[in-house]
Amino acid sequence: MAKPSVLIVEDEPDIAELIRFHCDREGMDARTVGTGKVALDQVKRETPDLLILDLMLPDVGGLEICRRLKQWPETRELPIVMVTAKGEETDIVTGLEIGADDYVVKPFSPRILMARVRAVLRRKLDEQNTGDDNRLERLDRRLVIDPDRHVVSVDGNVVELTVTEFGILNHLAQRPGFVRTRDQIIAAVHGRNVILSSRTIDVHVTALRKKLGELAGCVETVRGVGYRFGESLVAVE
Ligand code: CA
Repeated sequence: MAKPSVLIVEDEPDIAELIRFHCDREGMDARTVGTGKVALDQVKRETPDLLILDLMLPDVGGLEICRRLKQWPETRELPIVMVTAKGEETDIVTGLEIGADDYVVKPFSPRILMARVRAVLRRKLDEQNTGDDNRLERLDRRLVIDPDRHVVSVDGNVVELTVTEFGILNHLAQRPGFVRTRDQIIAAVHGRNVILSSRTIDVHVTALRKKLGELAGCVETVRGVGYRFGESLVAVE
């Protein structure tokens, strides 16, 4: 694979430089820009492999940049990792719903940011290389999800799930470690026309966890944001 190109959109020079330093160290070809307008121009001219996007920018805000990039066909698939200030949960939720791939909260550890960036880039590569087999194997193959046959098994035993439970699990397991908001889950499972409340999702998740038994912890709650598929099987909240 050629050096992945990363565009860092960040108006604070120290932080931009810190991120660039770590991208360089990971063998990425990183550039920085300090305003939203320049970022949009730059992306249009030469689309990078990934965008690291600060949400608080002096001119065009990060959410607006994200929205525009997701509207242009040429940049719709461009992976975006948002960088947000602490306490901007609504922005995180909005950003994920617009189509950002992941986020880190300031002050962030460069190690965590780079792990997110690598995961998003790897995911992009996987999506380009997927074959016909849609089967997902997770948690050292203890969990197998077969969307074509609509079958889930835990440690080799088939687990009976409702259509909604299956949909939630399948949606989350597609991208381990990535947070999905309740609205994104609802949209993925039922389409935008079905009215389901966030509360309903929580009830389905509780039932799903019960059926997953020992693997219940893979459906993790991310407080204030939504759910994610975790591979560490930590205790459920
Ligand atoms: Ca900023």
